[in-house]
Amino acid sequence: MCRHLGWLGTDVAVSSLVLDPPYGLRVQSYAPRRQKHGLLNADGWGVGFFDGSVPRRWRSPAPLWGDVSFGSVAPALRSHCVVAAVRSATVGMPIEASATAPFTDGRWLLSHNGVVDRAALPTTPNAESACDSARLAAVVFARGLDALGDTVAEVAAADPNARLNILAANGSRLLATAWGDTLSILRRGDGTVLASEPYDDDAGWEDVPDHHLVEVTADGVTLTPLH
Ligand code: GLN
Repeated sequence: MCRHLGWLGTDVAVSSLVLDPPYGLRVQSYAPRRQKHGLLNADGWGVGFFDGSVPRRWRSPAPLWGDVSFGSVAPALRSHCVVAAVRSATVGMPIEASATAPFTDGRWLLSHNGVVDRAALPTTPNAESACDSARLAAVVFARGLDALGDTVAEVAAADPNARLNILAANGSRLLATAWGDTLSILRRGDGTVLASEPYDDDAGWEDVPDHHLVEVTADGVTLTPLH
């Protein structure tokens, strides 16, 4: 399973979320603490952020820990809304930047932490890659993010072995599902973090129970059970 992180709040440096924390995505690329499937996340990384209302992405099929160019530039990238991920490719999936989250439809950024049988997904045009996560992203975009919880439940009914932790943002909403893997929330004074696992040992991290949808907006955090 990959590991991902989302931020909604005030403008912060991307490096402060992804690279600097003691157990952030940079460290999770080689030593995740809560990963249940796979040992490390060496098959690429992606950082997406909103520049005003425009989603921008930087993705690579190489390990995050070795990317000195990103390390140099990330402190200068500031955003109020970020979706970032490090990837452990599922066996058989292509290893390429286009298979690496976050995926986009031009309005949302989306990451998938898990696995799904592509034969169980409806056919949609516009998947960025043949990778299961890219195909799933295209299905979620086609259904609309307001239906995210229903879409996850339907895909899980079609593929009961699927793990469907999805994280998505559009600049003013941050959505995430816990369906088969870990998810945690940190409510900070300047914003909210949703992450596959805590990036530090702050006592404020809360674990999201499995089969739940989380929504973060300027009004706060809402948890909804999924069936
Ligand atoms: N199945 C996806 C991929 O191959 C995600 C894998 C994961 O969560 N580790 O990229």
